[in-house]
Amino acid sequence: MDFELPEELRMLKTQLRRFVDEEMIPVERETCTDDGLKPEWRAKFEKRIKDLGLWMMEVPEQYGGVGMGLVASVVVWQELARTVALPSREHGILGPSVRNILYTLDGEMQEKYLLPVLRGEKRVCFAQTEPDAGSDPGGMRTTAVRSGDHYVVNGTKRFITAAGDADFIQLMAATDRSKGSRGGISCFLVDFGTPGVRLGTQYQTMMGDRPWEIIFEDARVPVKNRVGAEGDGFRLAQKWLGHGRVHHGARALGVAERCLQMATSYAKQRVTFGKPLAERQAIQWMLADMHIELEAARLLVYQAATKIEAGEDARNDAYVCKYYADEMAFRAADACMQIHGGIALTTDLPIEKMWRQQRSYRITEGASEVMKMVIARHVLKTY
Ligand SMILES: Cc1cc2nc3c(=O)[nH]c(=O)nc-3n(C[C@H](O)[C@H](O)[C@H](O)COP(=O)(O)OP(=O)(O)OC[C@H]3O[C@@H](n4cnc5c(N)ncnc54)[C@H](O)[C@@H]3O)c2cc1C
Repeated sequence: MDFELPEELRMLKTQLRRFVDEEMIPVERETCTDDGLKPEWRAKFEKRIKDLGLWMMEVPEQYGGVGMGLVASVVVWQELARTVALPSREHGILGPSVRNILYTLDGEMQEKYLLPVLRGEKRVCFAQTEPDAGSDPGGMRTTAVRSGDHYVVNGTKRFITAAGDADFIQLMAATDRSKGSRGGISCFLVDFGTPGVRLGTQYQTMMGDRPWEIIFEDARVPVKNRVGAEGDGFRLAQKWLGHGRVHHGARALGVAERCLQMATSYAKQRVTFGKPLAERQAIQWMLADMHIELEAARLLVYQAATKIEAGEDARNDAYVCKYYADEMAFRAADACMQIHGGIALTTDLPIEKMWRQQRSYRITEGASEVMKMVIARHVLKTY
């Protein structure tokens, strides 16, 4: 068992760390507006990412990408998460956001959807959540009813990231509501511009993300736009979610490390009642807890990434990784805020933004309680 990163990943980490420390952190409170990354910063960061050889890092080589493995991706996500210079979701500076399911397409569908996304000509969003079905997609009410060579789609999706900029939707819809997530949900690619598909409310969130509602009213979607077999959509989507959970874990490591660095350095220099905070046991224990939990999370995240990359069944590792790392990083941001006192609540420092973002990850893409529910199933089966 080797707990060290290989030499090339250590070098990558060092290069990225320098980029983040020198070029991102100094400007991190200037780079974003409510609409996301400002175009001038996007151009600068993209150029540097290309210089570092990380553009399209996760795209397989056969499609012109770097084809980087998951462990290497963890290194990148972790380092970039040490700054709040980028929006927390879908920042796109590592290349077009390609949903993995698109790699299963071939022929005409590949030409129409995957290749334009890779060329940056089209964008896709993922629509699963609904007003009445978030954690429990089996209860979704959006239906796709077969009618000849089309499906007729009706329903409302909610909280869909980047829907306002997307050209098409990876839609999850019920083709048989009686079966729920066990064979009743199918996946479709639906073009914006299809009659009966429109954007609804755009939500403002405390993190700055502005996800959308999408409304489907008798929208006719060709049968050939179904991805995979009818009823297989949920299983297909689940197949890729392990990556997403490890991504959460990696990002959490970056946030927690930055918080620990900031909290430690502030505790050493801030004097109250005649002594630096760092000499008070109350503060030392907070720092010690942050360190212990960060080290534990690091092992969980790299373990999950290593197993997934090796093709092992790492579903439970990915749940544990997402749950523990996201909760850990929120505690770290909260402790960092407490140690800094009032100045942490201002936008002069990145702490309040990390806190807001990290708070949101305890809910989105698998809320903590739902992670625990699935982990408990594993425990009951295994022990
Ligand atoms: C900024 C943002 C971006 C998003 N982007 C997307 C996107 O692009 N595409 C998309 O499809 N969705 C997206 N979502 C939706 C997000 O994934 C859901 O909000 C999330 O899955 C939780 O669903 P919910 O809000 O309906 O909460 P609910 O499922 O109603 O859960 C409410 C609370 O109850 C808890 N809970 C639920 N079930 C149980 C249980 N069995 N036992 C104990 N506790 C339970 C949950 O943990 C949670 O704390 C986004 C959301 C936000 C806020």
